[in-house]
Amino acid sequence: MSTRTVLTVHDLRKAPKVLLHDHLDGGLRPRTIVELAQSTGYEGLPTHDVAELGRWFQEAANSGSLESYLETFAHTCGVMQTEDALIRVAAECVEDLADDGVVYAEVRYAPELFVERGLSLDQVIKAVQAGFTEGERRAEANGHRIRTGTLLCAMRQHARAAEIAELAVRYRDAGVVGFDIAGPEAGFPPTRNLDAFEFMRVNNAHFTIHAGEAFGLASIWEAIQHCGAERLGHGVRIVDDIKTSADGEVQLGRLAAYVRDRRIPLEICPSSNVQTGAVASIAEHPIGLLAKLRFRVTVNTDNRLMSGCSVSSEFAALSEAFGFGWADVQWFTINAMKSAFIDFDQRLDLINNVIKPGYAALV
Ligand SMILES: [Zn+2]
Repeated sequence: MSTRTVLTVHDLRKAPKVLLHDHLDGGLRPRTIVELAQSTGYEGLPTHDVAELGRWFQEAANSGSLESYLETFAHTCGVMQTEDALIRVAAECVEDLADDGVVYAEVRYAPELFVERGLSLDQVIKAVQAGFTEGERRAEANGHRIRTGTLLCAMRQHARAAEIAELAVRYRDAGVVGFDIAGPEAGFPPTRNLDAFEFMRVNNAHFTIHAGEAFGLASIWEAIQHCGAERLGHGVRIVDDIKTSADGEVQLGRLAAYVRDRRIPLEICPSSNVQTGAVASIAEHPIGLLAKLRFRVTVNTDNRLMSGCSVSSEFAALSEAFGFGWADVQWFTINAMKSAFIDFDQRLDLINNVIKPGYAALV
């Protein structure tokens, strides 16, 4: 019998990791929020004490109330309404990810949330790209190599998806690698934005869709079969189409089988699912079953500030709950790299020249 080793955050930070699902407005440093509130004149913060504010974000997100969860984003977006603020937040995001050992990240945000003080969508996108470039430069100066790709999101409850999809294509050679829709699933099925997805497809451009987080199989089915999503943001409710009998025999329904057969990547965000109540605890998270069944599972942070997490801490929690070791972490990482929206040769280069040698050195 092998002894069970639990990987720690400390160990995991040294491993090369890939992140596909991370929201720019969900990952600010508490200190930055306080400083930007002061410099931009944002007056809504519940406290200006940095440590207290950090705790407040996690508690509000944990409270189980959707109102307080959404209030957290009102504050982060509230301080991200100027070019300088966007540049700073984007640069620090890349620095923090690189510091955690992330070698490739796709960071997403909805440009339409940052135009309250008069910025144009183009100004928002250019500022964030400048910040990402600056973050990559600072990380490199610190001895960490990281590459960042941007996903532009449209909010389901607004009606700007076609416009945002057009921007995603227009900025495809300037760092934007794909498109997504985010926001409340209930009442806003992905098919409401069919024109945007069609625009992406005819332009040979990539997109993922937030689906199957709170809402079930219908949302996943629409995202894949009507909209043509290449990946699923969360997608965790696919377990509703998997039956395990009393004697442990597992049976996949047609949709679950399709998702697995087609190797459709699931952007799983364990801590976030627990906070929003989609899943009761990390130990009960379907990721254990989905990984065992060899779905194309990836591990992600969603909102690092609200969940108080990093990619390394998510892996540490999963290692504790499911006994995942280095071989598993490498598998999740290669899954994510294969599923990235950058060119095939670049994905292969990162897998062969960064990820595999990185794990070989650790194991
Ligand atoms: Zn998300």
